[in-house]
Amino acid sequence: MFHNRRVDVPGALSETEMKLDKHRPTHTIEREFGGTLGATCIPVFLPLTVLYLLCVCRSPGASLLQWPPPLPPTAQLWHPLAPTLLLGWLALQTFLYLLPVGKVAEGMVLRDGSRLKYPINGFHSFCVTAVLMALALWMGMPLGYLFELLLPLAVCTVGVSFLLSLYLYIRSFWAPNNALSLGGNTGNPLYDFFMGRELNPRIGSFDLKYFCELRPGLMGWVVINLAMLMKEVELRGSPSLAMLLVNGFQMLYVVDALWNEEAVLTTMDIVHDGFGFMLAFGDLAWVPFTYSLQANFLVVHPQSLSAAGAAAIIALNGVGYYIFRRSNSQKNQFRRDPTHPSVAGLETIATATGKRLLVSGWWGLVRHPNYLGDLLMATAWSLPCGVTHLVPYFYVIYFTVLLIHREARDERQCRAKYGLAWDTYCRRVPYRIIPYVY
Ligand code: NDP
Repeated sequence: MFHNRRVDVPGALSETEMKLDKHRPTHTIEREFGGTLGATCIPVFLPLTVLYLLCVCRSPGASLLQWPPPLPPTAQLWHPLAPTLLLGWLALQTFLYLLPVGKVAEGMVLRDGSRLKYPINGFHSFCVTAVLMALALWMGMPLGYLFELLLPLAVCTVGVSFLLSLYLYIRSFWAPNNALSLGGNTGNPLYDFFMGRELNPRIGSFDLKYFCELRPGLMGWVVINLAMLMKEVELRGSPSLAMLLVNGFQMLYVVDALWNEEAVLTTMDIVHDGFGFMLAFGDLAWVPFTYSLQANFLVVHPQSLSAAGAAAIIALNGVGYYIFRRSNSQKNQFRRDPTHPSVAGLETIATATGKRLLVSGWWGLVRHPNYLGDLLMATAWSLPCGVTHLVPYFYVIYFTVLLIHREARDERQCRAKYGLAWDTYCRRVPYRIIPYVY
């Protein structure tokens, strides 16, 4: 065990990593997400799940355990305003992304030794969007009408995700070999379409994956939540405490992600995964339409909440947020500059790649403290919806499955990267997400 006294070039690939990289196979052999079968079924199953959840959520019984209701008539799935709003939203966010404000950060070192530059202006985009929304509301824009438009909007967004994924798949054949992701390059079209072949597809300096990761979908989620709040005001005269909590918690999560936008550059999505259907659909359609289920549910199924109950839920969200933010910032700081005073005193172990692993601080508590904090927050987002229905808990259930699966994927990748050092880390920090439990 060593203390972290070495001076590393942040994010640099070690000589060993460079050498290993030269010998990497052109085609990946390993398959995730159930291989070709999974990659074929998921793009059919998940869009239907989005529509199913939206329909169930606003049905009188809101029961996930009933036989699925019949698909709504086409008139409810299509509205000419939906594509106009969606394309307008994407155009606005693209325009804000391209504005030369905020700093420019470098991503992690790529396989060819280069680093890409990324604009860190997501928070600026959010602020401009908020001002525009406030102006539009002040001028009488009926935001609550989005409640009626949600199904057609979801249908259009799913369509855009498919078109984008197709474009990404086709253009990846013009990308050089070392620009391909190691996970989505099997040669099987269905699997590669799903996983994404190209790691960082760009049109000029416009990075498609980075743009989709935190902007249109995440900010779209906040707008949908706000629209549900406005609908509640239309129906009942004022927003409920439960609706205010759900809006407040989830907005904090989104604002935090945008404020700490640079941290996304060290996450699995950006560093490891190619940009294909999995991320395009996840970022653009899944996040805004399923993460807003609680607010959507509350419009049709109002809940009363006592002051003590609300205080307990706020405390739970606060604890979750604290763990989530501190652990993510600690790892991000360590990866960017291990000599920074906030992380320089932490205990670390060396790995053969030249990179080191934290074994004290948050990352000495469990191997994924950030997932623990995220799960506590997810629970706090559902509790304002009461305990009589399962549908507002869909996010917690799905997210638990996602994070357990994600942890296993990350574990496999880290074992492949760090070998014996990873085993040593696992012995030192035996629990994955919940101390003494899992
Ligand atoms: P992490 O940010 O947890 O990154 C995992 C990587 O961190 C590993 O691959 C490894 O990469 C590095 N690492 C792991 N252990 C250590 C250690 N002990 N010391 C130093 N580095 C270590 O992964 P995610 O991208 O999965 O998560 C980021 C955040 O996003 C989390 O808070 C998660 O909860 C959240 N999230 C939210 C989602 C949502 O839908 N709400 C979906 C997915 C994630 P390396 O060594 O190469 O640097």
